[in-house]
Amino acid sequence: MVEAAQQTYPKTVREYFDNSYKFTSSGNRVLGVFTPAEGVAEGQQVVVLDKSILHPQGGGQPNDEGHLSQGDTKFVIAELKIKDDVVMHIGKFEPAEATFAEGSEVDCHVDEAKRRLFARVHSAGHLLDVAMMKAGRTDLKPSKGYHFATGAYVEYIGAVEASEREALVATLNEKCAQIISSTPAEMNVFKKMCTYEEAQEQLAGAGGVPSYIAEGTPLRVLKLVADDLGCPCGGTHVEHVHDIQ
Ligand SMILES: [Zn+2]
Repeated sequence: MVEAAQQTYPKTVREYFDNSYKFTSSGNRVLGVFTPAEGVAEGQQVVVLDKSILHPQGGGQPNDEGHLSQGDTKFVIAELKIKDDVVMHIGKFEPAEATFAEGSEVDCHVDEAKRRLFARVHSAGHLLDVAMMKAGRTDLKPSKGYHFATGAYVEYIGAVEASEREALVATLNEKCAQIISSTPAEMNVFKKMCTYEEAQEQLAGAGGVPSYIAEGTPLRVLKLVADDLGCPCGGTHVEHVHDIQ
């Protein structure tokens, strides 16, 4: 059972938090391989590691594609989920009868082209938030984001008069271009795993840590550019705003 099995695993160290452009990683220790009673397709198994560069679906962003390997044995990932901070690598072994021994080490491989694309599409959502602020439309509150490559969008809560819509789109496009062109080459995207208190300081301009995050919870803060007020985010991003183009 997934629920029963995964409770015994420590939180997965998520290497993509530090570097979105790390596409292979070695020395990942196998903490468990199991077949859950439900939630996976026939023949699929779950691999749990101590650390992983693979990003599970979440925050409106699709999961990475990739595989794990150990010698001639490959584990092709079909899906990645996260439960209680444990990343579940779901997929199938090649050859089918192979497995990874608990305690052994595997290499993680992420599909580089897809990771770069997913990071760009998702980062563009953050860019739009900054552009909206710079356009003076702080009355429009970002809500849901969908950052899949086909049909990505960010939903804002509020109203824009029909007569203003065309002009707002033009302004937002202009602001996005300005933000990108005015950011110096040496200024990378800011991302940091923070204590709750640190996050309060980092997000002071944005009204502090949002109320949906329980007090005391550590969180990752993301600021795309210097004057981004920031938000909590566990996704994969471009390393520099120039990479969005
Ligand atoms: Zn993000």
